[in-house]
Amino acid sequence: MGSSHAVSGAAGWLGGCAVLAAAGAPAGPPVVVVGTVIAAGAALLPDCDHPSSCVAYTFGPVSRFVCRRIGRACAVLHARTRTPLDVRDLDGHRTLTHTVLFALVTGLLAAAGGWLGGIVAAAVVTFATTGLAIRALWPKRKRGTLGATLGGLVTAAALVTFGPADGWWWLGVPVAFGCLAHIAGDAMTNTGVPALFPLPIGGRRWRRLRTPRMLRFGTGGRAEHLVRWLLVAGAIGAGWLLAV
Ligand SMILES: [Zn+2]
Repeated sequence: MGSSHAVSGAAGWLGGCAVLAAAGAPAGPPVVVVGTVIAAGAALLPDCDHPSSCVAYTFGPVSRFVCRRIGRACAVLHARTRTPLDVRDLDGHRTLTHTVLFALVTGLLAAAGGWLGGIVAAAVVTFATTGLAIRALWPKRKRGTLGATLGGLVTAAALVTFGPADGWWWLGVPVAFGCLAHIAGDAMTNTGVPALFPLPIGGRRWRRLRTPRMLRFGTGGRAEHLVRWLLVAGAIGAGWLLAV
């Protein structure tokens, strides 16, 4: 689902920018362009809890190591906080990183980094998210890692060279938005996500939420491909509206 997530983040961000422009409050070019890349990459972040995810293979052994650790930490957190009604979870996948809480905290951290760290923090966030976005569209493992790393470096260098030195607090918005787009996408699958953790629902702290059955699909199936292409069309339409 990696590419579908990335497309959902980019399409959602471009769509939001198009709505703002139509409402008479257009976002500046850096917010539109850089924000789209960041939202696309951040839309993969929640899968940092799985050692075989697109995120894990983005930056080779480094990201695999980090994702394995995050997955284990999530599994421990789930085991220690689940109620008797929650089902057991052994690998930690689709737990803490698939919650609104995670999206908001990650966005706040990025915003604080952009506010305090300026262009340096912006370059770090852009490097990581560009790498993720490229990796999602380039599934070949070895070359994809090289492409993601080089692409991230080039984008971050371009940002440092041509971008303003400060005023990057808004980075947190596309980061949080991308994570939320991922969570919404996973909620449309049969497995669902515990989006509202730690709020107890029906006696469960990790209650998995899903969209109604008619709006659900299995991962990798025809429905997912259709949704992805609809999102691509939406992104192109929003981009065109912003350009004219
Ligand atoms: Zn996921």
